[in-house]
Amino acid sequence: MTVKNKIVVITGASSGIGEATAELLAKNGARVVLGARREAKLQALVDQIKADGGEAIYRVTDVTKMADVKALVELAKDHFGGIDVIFNNAGVMLTSPLSELKTDEWDQMVDINLKGVLNGVAAVLPTFTAQKHGHVITTSSVAGLNPYLGAGVYGATKFAVRDMMEILRMESAQEGTNIRTTSLYPGAINTELVDHITDQNAKAGMDQFYDQVGISPDAVARAVNFAIDPPDDVEMHDLTIYPTKQG
Ligand code: NDP
Repeated sequence: MTVKNKIVVITGASSGIGEATAELLAKNGARVVLGARREAKLQALVDQIKADGGEAIYRVTDVTKMADVKALVELAKDHFGGIDVIFNNAGVMLTSPLSELKTDEWDQMVDINLKGVLNGVAAVLPTFTAQKHGHVITTSSVAGLNPYLGAGVYGATKFAVRDMMEILRMESAQEGTNIRTTSLYPGAINTELVDHITDQNAKAGMDQFYDQVGISPDAVARAVNFAIDPPDDVEMHDLTIYPTKQG
């Protein structure tokens, strides 16, 4: 079974990597179930996918709320008859020096980037375990591989999901549940991510860096497609997607 006909839940689908992935997977025959908070963006994307001949549905979803994520997964089952893949992609990157104590932003990153991913895992594991088939894909970051200044909390959330995904892989192998796991480690991808940084120095540095090296979110969408495509006994576990120019 390739991407075609798979039922794929995507969080953070209203822009950037999630949006590009929804478009590509739907073009390749997947049935996509889209979640994020901005309804107008989700509606426009579903309309576009349908106009292009694809199949898509959305539900307004805040990944920090377990009930929302569960409802998104239930929508996939009710509307398309099941779920094959969850792409835990929603995230925010609010970089700043730890010494600035932007603790409200620390909370947001922990709640969205870490707890939001855990909510996605919790929402699908019972189904994936029972059907002995399923695929959990999570967007970590190169910030989850290497520390960099300003990413004290952002990087911590991305290291944390990387660790959790590796343990999910080990548990799945040990328990024989046949669940596939993929962690994505994108470098600089031109999306809305940097727009939300409130620390002016951090934002200026990121803007300059992304202008110099950033690439299209289509690159990550293709990596997701590549991870889903192989048969169930093959797991593309860790995929790093660097812009060629990124040092
Ligand atoms: P965008 O800002 O374009 O997309 C982020 C997405 O997350 C949006 O769809 C946003 O939708 C959604 N989101 C944010 N908060 C919530 C929430 N509480 N509940 C549901 N959805 C939420 O950035 P990217 O596409 O770049 O980011 C996607 C992922 O990729 C993130 O996890 C990010 O950390 C990661 N990443 C990005 C890199 C890059 O260079 N761009 C590099 C490495 C990793 P809405 O606001 O409508 O809820």
